[in-house]
Amino acid sequence: MWDVIVVGARCSGSSTAMLLARAGHRVLVVDRATFPSDVVSTHFLWPHGASYLNRWGLLDDVLAVTPSHTSIEMVTDGIPLSGTVPLPLLERYFDELHGDDHGVVQTYTSVRRRVLDQILIDAADAAGAEVRTGFTVDELLFDDEQRVIGVRGHGRDGETVEEHARIVVGADGRNSFVARTLDLPKFDERPRCTFAYWSYYEGTPVEHARLHRRGRLAMASVPTNFGQTMNLVYGPSEWAAAFRRDIAGNFAKAVDFISPEIGAELRSAQRVERFYGTLDQSAYLRPLSGPGWVLVGDAESFKDQCTAMGMTHAFRDAELVSAALCSWLGGDQPLEIALKEYEARRRSQSAAAYYDYVCTLAEMRPPRHEELRMFLALRDNQAETDRFLATHGDVAPLSDFFEASNLFLLDGGMRESSSRDYPIFDDFEATSRMYRRNPFIEP
Ligand SMILES: Cc1cc2nc3c(=O)[nH]c(=O)nc-3n(C[C@H](O)[C@H](O)[C@H](O)COP(=O)(O)OP(=O)(O)OC[C@H]3O[C@@H](n4cnc5c(N)ncnc54)[C@H](O)[C@@H]3O)c2cc1C
Repeated sequence: MWDVIVVGARCSGSSTAMLLARAGHRVLVVDRATFPSDVVSTHFLWPHGASYLNRWGLLDDVLAVTPSHTSIEMVTDGIPLSGTVPLPLLERYFDELHGDDHGVVQTYTSVRRRVLDQILIDAADAAGAEVRTGFTVDELLFDDEQRVIGVRGHGRDGETVEEHARIVVGADGRNSFVARTLDLPKFDERPRCTFAYWSYYEGTPVEHARLHRRGRLAMASVPTNFGQTMNLVYGPSEWAAAFRRDIAGNFAKAVDFISPEIGAELRSAQRVERFYGTLDQSAYLRPLSGPGWVLVGDAESFKDQCTAMGMTHAFRDAELVSAALCSWLGGDQPLEIALKEYEARRRSQSAAAYYDYVCTLAEMRPPRHEELRMFLALRDNQAETDRFLATHGDVAPLSDFFEASNLFLLDGGMRESSSRDYPIFDDFEATSRMYRRNPFIEP
């Protein structure tokens, strides 16, 4: 009998298994995949994502093979902002959510999943969890009261194996087998999302992440492992079908439109892998826990990649759920109370507001005139730029940055800042109308 069985061994699963095993609990973590392997995901980590790895003693392993940086560049309709998430806000995030701020770093890094997920699995193994890869869970086991008491599955040899546990953690991604078997509903679904295509390039040394947006299209260009950069293009899902008719051609067209400089860079670089892509990133929430089970990561809540937050939130869930399960397994509180605490933190007002923010951004509406004026005002105010980055990156609550007094201050800045250098303001209505047209079907 295991204390905990974790289904899925990537960002949320291996981290949960590692933290529970480090606390001395008997943990089995399984995954049908074999590792190292990639998964449909890019790999930009915000500073609080890197901070989780640092808190767990794994960041050095990542940074030994992965470039990192401490500032990012965001360019919206030609208006550049760059900055870094402030340390005090990072410390406050960890204090409020986890009760301590040890290990906080201001590091951004983009670690390829075949590298990161292997580091996480190795850490779970080193902590004493039993790791079984190439093992598919086919059934959940229930007792007479419909409480989950284990899993039935098979390894590569095809032999059926049954394992029992006091609780099963579903860390098995957006198409979660655990959630489907339990027939869990999805709620607050947001069908409008982005399509995203990306690939890897050599010969474009890039020192920090560049996140560019123009109209309804955006791209990320980040340094990653093996001396490569990852370049990703995304846009509204209703443009996906037209984009897909010529992926390579439309990728180049999109980059040239979003950032002619990066377009020129990529023309002189070499693409070293095929294009990867995804068409459907519609967001949802699922119930968090029930008799004998609990969900973490994408299994519990998936959302669009447009703010690159999924891995960091998977790490957050791993810390929250393992703390809850440790307090129950250690006899400090009943399971139901411990899981209520997990739920309260996961379903805070701040988390709900951020979910809404991501889903709204994922509609990829062209930025409004007043949003762009706000970016102009931020240009002259580094402290507020950093606070905006922290808000966009879910380190600080949206309600703090977007509170009335702050917007009033920025409004003053907007009046003073000059729009002369930014062609978008020359004829805003005409440009914005042009940005609404799908460039992959219209000249
Ligand atoms: C296009 C795209 C780009 C993204 N870019 C970023 C980014 O830049 N930064 C970021 O932070 N996030 C990004 N994300 C989100 C991120 O990839 C996910 O949030 C993250 O992978 C979730 O981790 P997870 O452990 O919950 O699930 P997953 O990574 O999906 O892992 C689930 C695991 O469960 C296993 N599994 C499933 N069913 C079973 C079964 N029956 N038996 C055994 N094993 C099973 C699977 O094999 C898999 O390994 C992106 C997502 C997409 C789609």
